[in-house]
Amino acid sequence: MELKNMNVSDRKAMLLQALENDEFYLLYQPKLQLRTGKVIGAEALLRWEHPVIGTISPLDFIPFAEETGLIRPIGEWVLRSACKQNKMWQEMGLEPLTMAVNLSASQLFQGDIAEKVENILKEMELAPEYLELEITESMTMDVEFVLPMLRKLKQIGVSISLDDFGTGYSSLYHLKEFPIDTIKIDRSFVRNCTIDAKDATIVKTIIAMAHQLKLEVIAEGVESKDHLIFLQQNLCDEGQGYLFSKPVSATGFAENMRAFEQI
Ligand code: C2E
Ligand code: CA
Ligand code: CA
Ligand code: CA
Repeated sequence: MELKNMNVSDRKAMLLQALENDEFYLLYQPKLQLRTGKVIGAEALLRWEHPVIGTISPLDFIPFAEETGLIRPIGEWVLRSACKQNKMWQEMGLEPLTMAVNLSASQLFQGDIAEKVENILKEMELAPEYLELEITESMTMDVEFVLPMLRKLKQIGVSISLDDFGTGYSSLYHLKEFPIDTIKIDRSFVRNCTIDAKDATIVKTIIAMAHQLKLEVIAEGVESKDHLIFLQQNLCDEGQGYLFSKPVSATGFAENMRAFEQI
């Protein structure tokens, strides 16, 4: 049984059932400030544990969730769960972190995303500074619609980061026009930045440009000590990747934080 071989209505039924049966869960991956090595945030990453198929990657089901419109309730579940978890960590006495949540295009195009986010923050009693929304370049193409949406979100006080930077197009335009706080350098550039002169140049240039534009910059896919040294030498603000931690459960994350705080 594979999702991609099913028809739309079967996929839709399966996704609906997954929501009802609590088959979705979140894993969390830390974001580190590279200057200090401190964990300053986490990215919530969605997983689906199907009783028969097993674990399904978001890359395999998000497209179908988009296609069936179910990304909206699923995305809202993600937002609510991630905010709730962040609040719980704060109540446990962990150092407050910024929780990053991936938004899909149709969530942004819903029109009432800002109200939804505001309500969830209120419901969870979470201060907006502890929520960050990750959007991708492809979502920002409809400037007329998306720009006011992002401005509303910024007014609430949440931050916005531009994910997978460099893989879409008209990026420079977006950097200039959109109210974003952080650029996330795509993993594909980070992977070979210590062995390929072109990748090295691209990564250095993105970092320098971000800083000139007064934006923060984070590298994803930091897998080796060499990556880390390169990024630190080039003054990248933050990093995220397997070198620090794979995405882990909420409990695992809190344990890692405690162990870390004792060092
Ligand atoms: P993304 O937002 O670019 O997330 C980063 C992906 O890279 C994650 O894959 C993460 O597990 C993986 N990763 C992190 N560090 C490393 C590393 O050092 N090396 C390598 N090779 N990979 C690393 P994941 O969790 O499979 O998610 C894939 C994509 O699915 C995400 O890419 C995002 O676009 C989407 N996604 C995940 N959760 C959600 C969600 O809640 N909502 C939406 N709309 N999309 C989501
Ligand atoms: Ca992301
Ligand atoms: Ca990314
Ligand atoms: Ca990526």
